[in-house]
Amino acid sequence: MTDLADEALTLDANAVAGLLEEIYGTDMTARMSECGHCGNKAQVGTMRVYDMTGPGIVLRCSVCTGITLMLVPQRDGSYLIEASGTVLGI
Ligand SMILES: [Zn+2]
Repeated sequence: MTDLADEALTLDANAVAGLLEEIYGTDMTARMSECGHCGNKAQVGTMRVYDMTGPGIVLRCSVCTGITLMLVPQRDGSYLIEASGTVLGI
């Protein structure tokens, strides 16, 4: 798969803005984040979303593609959040 094709399959984090706001209680897309892998400092909205059809949503750094956030819905309506790949400004 070429980088161009790979890019075509991704969305920016604005695609999950509503979900992030539901979880964090505020609009997260304009909040700053720092990638734990490469140190990239950018708005949360610049993170890339690679797959919206799996059991969870994975967000990746737009620079190094390292996993920054994973959001996995639970049966009780809550979310399991893995955020060790980023520092979020809330
Ligand atoms: Zn990065």
